[in-house]
Amino acid sequence: MFVDSHCHLDRLDLSAYGGELDAALDAARARDVHQFLAIAVCLDDVPGLARIARQHDDVVISAGLHPLHVVEQEPSVEAIVECAEQHEAVAIGETGLDYHYDGVSREAQFERFKRHLIAATELELPVSVHTREARDDTLSLIREYSDPAIGGVLHCFTEDLDMAREAVRLGFFISLSGIVTFRNANSLRELARQIPLDRLLIETDSPYLAPVPHRGKPNEPQWVVEVADCIARERGISLDEVAMQTTVNFYRLFRAAAPQASEEIRASLAQAGLI
Ligand SMILES: [Zn+2]
Ligand SMILES: [Zn+2]
Repeated sequence: MFVDSHCHLDRLDLSAYGGELDAALDAARARDVHQFLAIAVCLDDVPGLARIARQHDDVVISAGLHPLHVVEQEPSVEAIVECAEQHEAVAIGETGLDYHYDGVSREAQFERFKRHLIAATELELPVSVHTREARDDTLSLIREYSDPAIGGVLHCFTEDLDMAREAVRLGFFISLSGIVTFRNANSLRELARQIPLDRLLIETDSPYLAPVPHRGKPNEPQWVVEVADCIARERGISLDEVAMQTTVNFYRLFRAAAPQASEEIRASLAQAGLI
């Protein structure tokens, strides 16, 4: 069983599926992808995501505001908390810092990320963190405002091994996307071999960043299997082992989603004393 730990189900290109989200999810289910964490880009999207989650037993959602999403008014800590509670989010995000682009100033991103971390700690929910070219500020905010017992994930990770190791030390998981399959991503494949397997998650970040051999097409949740397959080949282990371990990791981190886990996964979580 695979989990897509970060997808934007409200933004998928469904033209290959007659406009039906269900058909895209069915294509993923047919490949053994049985849990989807639908990630919010802004708080206004959360009610729509919550509607999707109500309609699908295997969908859970996050609540948050992407670092580069332009808004008229920055949400307060209370607004983030209230939105997450009202819509039963299992995670806060996506949040973080992206200094590669400057659509939102660094100062505004910094304050926004801080508020999300405070809200997450208050709710005891993990954070889904987007980080790009913002290593020091990302780590220092996590160090200061995140609870290592709750933690989070650095999603769609593309930074270096040192940063990943430091994040792991702070109680975080590292999530790899289709980028790991790209021809020029040698350092990321090296990281896929080096990071302890019990700290790795997999995701699509669909509709963005489709993996090889689908690169250039709109991405979709079923292609999380290609990400897992790349990790399995890099580490010289079976696809099953990557599937099992990244699934267990997912429920270890996003504990509020654990009631949705299969019998088999719940048994191994129970065995590890995690539920
Ligand atoms: Zn992101
Ligand atoms: Zn995303």
